[in-house]
Amino acid sequence: MKIHEYQGKEILKKFGVTTPRGIPCFSVDEAVKAAETLGGKVWVVKAQIHAGGRGKGGGVKVAKNPDEVRIYAKAILGMQLTTHQTGPGGQKVRRLLIEEGADIKKEYYVAALTDRATQKVAMMASSEGGMDIEEVAHKTPEKIIKVFVDPLVGLTDAQANELASGIGVPAGSLAQAVDTFKKLYTCYMETDASLAEINPLILEGNGGIKALDAKFNFDSNALYRHPEIVACRDLDEEDADEIEASKHDLAYISLDGNIGCLVNGAGLAMATMDTIKLFGAEPANFLDVGGGATTEKVTEAFKIMLKNPKVKGILVNIFGGIMKCDTIAAGVVAAAKETHISVPLVVRMKGTNEDLGKQILKESGLPIISADTMADAATKIVAAVK
Ligand code: GDP
Ligand code: MN
Repeated sequence: MKIHEYQGKEILKKFGVTTPRGIPCFSVDEAVKAAETLGGKVWVVKAQIHAGGRGKGGGVKVAKNPDEVRIYAKAILGMQLTTHQTGPGGQKVRRLLIEEGADIKKEYYVAALTDRATQKVAMMASSEGGMDIEEVAHKTPEKIIKVFVDPLVGLTDAQANELASGIGVPAGSLAQAVDTFKKLYTCYMETDASLAEINPLILEGNGGIKALDAKFNFDSNALYRHPEIVACRDLDEEDADEIEASKHDLAYISLDGNIGCLVNGAGLAMATMDTIKLFGAEPANFLDVGGGATTEKVTEAFKIMLKNPKVKGILVNIFGGIMKCDTIAAGVVAAAKETHISVPLVVRMKGTNEDLGKQILKESGLPIISADTMADAATKIVAAVK
């Protein structure tokens, strides 16, 4: 789960990381009032969306007086902000963060993330902050310093020092940088984050170290431990179909292709997507209906897939283990009838009560294309959508 920058900064602050003073706003008037409340001479008007690259996309503006705050707030609020992370359609800006301006001497990058390969926490830092870190990794990988933290030991002083001096923090600010890295690590661990990123972390003119941006990703399997983080969820930022699917306890991820897939079991769902690709087409979604799918669940799954105008065909791939093939066949028939399915439907089933399932499909009178192997199913659905 992702959250907004202003929510991320609240969390960082709780763990002792210095952040600029700021106020989240939902209207232009609120933004102007926030600037007055904050005082000072320079303010930053920042679009709040769950995507990075806002600066380059025109979603971060520095205002020198309250009139400029109004102008920028008006321009940004409601805009369709397009960045390299939003996709071509962009994301509508519904919230702003008004912050006191910062005196930036140098921008750094720092992040804590889960590293599966080493089964440790990777802490990464770079002297090239404010930029797209993927670009830094690609063009100048030597400018990224990494340490791997043993979760039983935690980030040691030596490691934090290695990061801070590695990115060139000046001597007078080293202690605060080390302290910030350790607090970021603690924050990452205690919130069950899978990513906690500060880009940029800045060196101020007076030598202070401050987090100017905050990006978090939280492990959804651990959210039950963090009601305060769940409360930050912003459904406007999430895929509408994925929200609908989660209401019906379906594991669904929207993708860009034109073949909808309905599968039981995450592994089989992955293999099904691979097979579709192998046969020259692209899946429209990942969908695992789970082991105990009912007719209602299958119907909801069909509805969600058919709502997508890109879907030109559906592939159902079921392994009857705990779930019996006749049950799923009855579900598929009911769902196909209820949703008046108008695209080709290929069904492959294997396992318990397979023959009974196939008979139900055949007797339904629906133009269902039956398939035997994965390759057979993929060949048939790819041909049907072409
Ligand atoms: P992102 O582009 O979505 O990652 O948004 P950021 O919060 O990182 O902002 C982008 C850039 O705007 C930063 O790298 C800074 O250069 C600049 N910026 C952000 N806050 C301030 C500020 O308070 N003062 C000034 N002068 N620039 C800022
Ligand atoms: Mn940033």
